[in-house]
Amino acid sequence: MTAVGVLPDGVTVLERGWLSSNNVVFVDAERAAIVDTGYATHSAQTIGLVNEVLQGRKLDRIVNTHLHSDHCGGNAALREEFSSARIWIPPGDAPLIAEWKVEELSFLQTGQECERFGFDELLQPGSSIELGALAWQVHAAPGHDPHSIMLFEPRSRTLISADALWEKGFGVVFPELAGEPSFEEVAATLDHIDELRSALIIPGHGRVFSDVGAALSVARKRLDFYQAEPERHARHALKVLMKFKLLERSRLDFETLQAWWNGTPYVETIRKKFFESESLDELRDDIVAALVSSNNARVNAGNLVDC
Ligand SMILES: [Zn+2]
Repeated sequence: MTAVGVLPDGVTVLERGWLSSNNVVFVDAERAAIVDTGYATHSAQTIGLVNEVLQGRKLDRIVNTHLHSDHCGGNAALREEFSSARIWIPPGDAPLIAEWKVEELSFLQTGQECERFGFDELLQPGSSIELGALAWQVHAAPGHDPHSIMLFEPRSRTLISADALWEKGFGVVFPELAGEPSFEEVAATLDHIDELRSALIIPGHGRVFSDVGAALSVARKRLDFYQAEPERHARHALKVLMKFKLLERSRLDFETLQAWWNGTPYVETIRKKFFESESLDELRDDIVAALVSSNNARVNAGNLVDC
């Protein structure tokens, strides 16, 4: 019997930050596995951290909750390090991954990086996967990403929630910004999390937490706010995208910033839908100002600097 509120045996959570998602590493007598692999530019660090946990063991399974660059960006490097590891992904984007259709995957749209990887197995919602000698149920979690899944272990009531629920919110609702109404899906996924009565949540970002009721209440309030004022959600998304690029590079000179901004299809998609009266340049300046005033960035000698 696993104690409530304590991570099951053999589970290690590597809390990473915001550029790289958390990594959940499972080790048991039979095999070792990882759920989510961080961002591409952190791959060497990810491999180092994983090897520390594995203590000479090899990795057998690489599992992704969803295929955003901060959750699957270490897949290629980990597969190179552990050549016999099999990669498990949610089925939704599998055809795009198989042919690496970058125009349709999120990486190019959001101006982010991800090294090409393939897959071996699919994580079908309704099935389960053995990780750390326990059977983890695969649950669909549409909203932030239409094809995201979560993993739930019923004995310890532990939920790996990906970006569907964090301690203080949830990930940007990307499909909504591209004109696919998805706030209702976020609400349904939050209800589903509520029904699971989890004792412990391992989120995609931030620390492990057990006050699920408080997190759900924060998330539902934020969702209500975004539903009432969708342009606030759109502006938040642009801030998140620019901050992510800043986390990746630490500093951006304005030429690089402008080239990235103008060359990122999602930025123009969002501008057209929500801020058509503003030019791309005006909108960029607004978002820079918003990051500076919220202490997420500062301007120094012609550079936008992360802080
Ligand atoms: Zn995500």
